[in-house]
Amino acid sequence: MKKHNFSAGPCILPQEVLKQASEAVLNFDNLDLSLIEISHRSKNFVSVMDEAISLVKELLQLPEGYSPMFLQGGASLEFLMVPYNLMKQGGKAAYLETGVWAKKARQEAEAMGEVVVVGNSADKNYSYIPKGYTIPSDVDYFHCTSNNTIYGTQIKAFPKVDTLNVCDMSSDIFSRQIDFTQFDLIYAGAQKNMGPAGTTLVVVKDEILGKTGRQIPTMLDYTTHISKESMFNTPPVFAVYVSMLTLRWLKENGGISWIENINNQKAQLLYSEIDRNPLFTGTAEVEDRSNMNACFLLNDEAGKDKFEAMLKEGGINGLNGHRSVGGYRASMYNALPLESVQALVDIMREFERQS
Ligand code: PMP
Repeated sequence: MKKHNFSAGPCILPQEVLKQASEAVLNFDNLDLSLIEISHRSKNFVSVMDEAISLVKELLQLPEGYSPMFLQGGASLEFLMVPYNLMKQGGKAAYLETGVWAKKARQEAEAMGEVVVVGNSADKNYSYIPKGYTIPSDVDYFHCTSNNTIYGTQIKAFPKVDTLNVCDMSSDIFSRQIDFTQFDLIYAGAQKNMGPAGTTLVVVKDEILGKTGRQIPTMLDYTTHISKESMFNTPPVFAVYVSMLTLRWLKENGGISWIENINNQKAQLLYSEIDRNPLFTGTAEVEDRSNMNACFLLNDEAGKDKFEAMLKEGGINGLNGHRSVGGYRASMYNALPLESVQALVDIMREFERQS
């Protein structure tokens, strides 16, 4: 039996997607050639890219005027591309600092202009989402991180923003229904809810580009990639293909509303156990808890070896917390079945019974 995979990313993907992807590596579209040995300009691959882009628009319910791109360099390169493309010469941006990824994004912007940190939860190791902050009216854009992978916090209510609105959705894109049109730019590394590592989805509202007065290096300019439909240079064909299959899987099963319902059930099941079981404590502020990553500690470290032996025995993979938080982190991305969360909860109960 396959392991229950709670890995934080790269992470679990739907089993049927992995099967189709492995078949395509050997023989793609009955071409008697591998997906990864044909030209990215072949009509077979161009149709993969077209389908991936149109699935993004459809699943996120984006109107005309938004362009999805599949880029490289990870979400980390977007930390730089965002200010390059949106911050005016001598301009200013506002950042909400809710974790280390948000901080890294903020630091890249600081190299390009003035940054106002409108809220920061570093004082409590990013265990909560700051609220009640004010975004200055004279900034070029506001940047936030919808889900903080390391700390298990998630923005539930996005602020109303009068400037350009930018969001790093690396670890919760396609997991819940939100009005994606409230954002002018969204980016997400593929390796959580979408596919393997190697590509980054960026969705941008076309009309916001080309207004900074900056000379942007060709590869860092979003307009380069939009005008060439993500094929200015050789795209990461395998990562784009598997992402397309995962988006197709999501659509065929009922889209984001379908998966959101399951994600809510998974999170409810695990957080109820964390709160009920006297041996564990959740680390994130309750109202800001993430439905994707649940972080918790074992109250008495003396039981660590025993609990971890039980996890191993139960086929639980990837539960280690990030080193900056410690304890455990259960990542419950879209492809993780409810049964895996039930298996983890059963072990937590059995551990309590035997303690
Ligand atoms: N933002 C968030 C919220 C993340 O979780 C991560 C990586 N886990 C990143 C950015 C960085 O992504 P990448 O490794 O693709 O550069």
